[in-house]
Amino acid sequence: MRRPIIAGNWKLHKTINEAVTLVNSIIDEVNKTDVEVVVCCPYTCLSEVKKALAGSKLKLGAQNLFWEDTGAFTGEVSAEMLKEIGVEYVIIGHSERRQYFHETDETVNKKVKKALEKGLNPILCVGETLEEREADKTFNVVKNQTLLALKDVSPLDASKIVIAYEPVWAIGTGKTASSQDANTVISYIREVLKEIYNDDISEEIRIQYGGSVKPSNATEIMQESDIDGALVGGASLEAHQFLGIVNF
Ligand code: 13P
Repeated sequence: MRRPIIAGNWKLHKTINEAVTLVNSIIDEVNKTDVEVVVCCPYTCLSEVKKALAGSKLKLGAQNLFWEDTGAFTGEVSAEMLKEIGVEYVIIGHSERRQYFHETDETVNKKVKKALEKGLNPILCVGETLEEREADKTFNVVKNQTLLALKDVSPLDASKIVIAYEPVWAIGTGKTASSQDANTVISYIREVLKEIYNDDISEEIRIQYGGSVKPSNATEIMQESDIDGALVGGASLEAHQFLGIVNF
């Protein structure tokens, strides 16, 4: 039985004060649920948010990392630096990073391996653009992204990964994939995992849906057989909306 996981991806939002206020207003509810709940904050908020969530069930995530440990890489942050703060999850390969910051399947793979090496759990994002969907390439795209991201990742390490299926056309647009469509693609990703690893690992890995998840559609999405949670953007920025999803 896979434990549901709901993660908020705050993207480029929240000052430290705003972040701590939000965390303080969700902690009590988060402590009451059996769902695993993660907030993925901007780097600048991580330390203070870690202090704010101390002793609670809420977990801390980051939105990116760099694959080298140290060196002349101005502006980058290493896995060890995140680990030192108490980060447990890290989003890797979000479509916005692929689109605006030129991340490739190869760099995503390097980041996944570095995160695992340092004991961080990757939330690996895959998903097709509207153009790719309309050209019937959805399955091909998610298969390639998954295969390349997991290249040389051992079965034991793979079981620590959360995959987020985020169709790019559904992010921040208010358009959600129908829960059945999302489940079909996610079931397919599970087939790919079976090919790479085996039945057990494929059944163990949690796969989230992301893209315009709100309290009003969370229940339907979460009821699907292969969907184990949500990666939430806009609706994770306000306590009542995020809690509406956490308590789906
Ligand atoms: P929205 O929930 O704002 O559509 O964003 C989804 C997302 O990109 C989460 O990573």
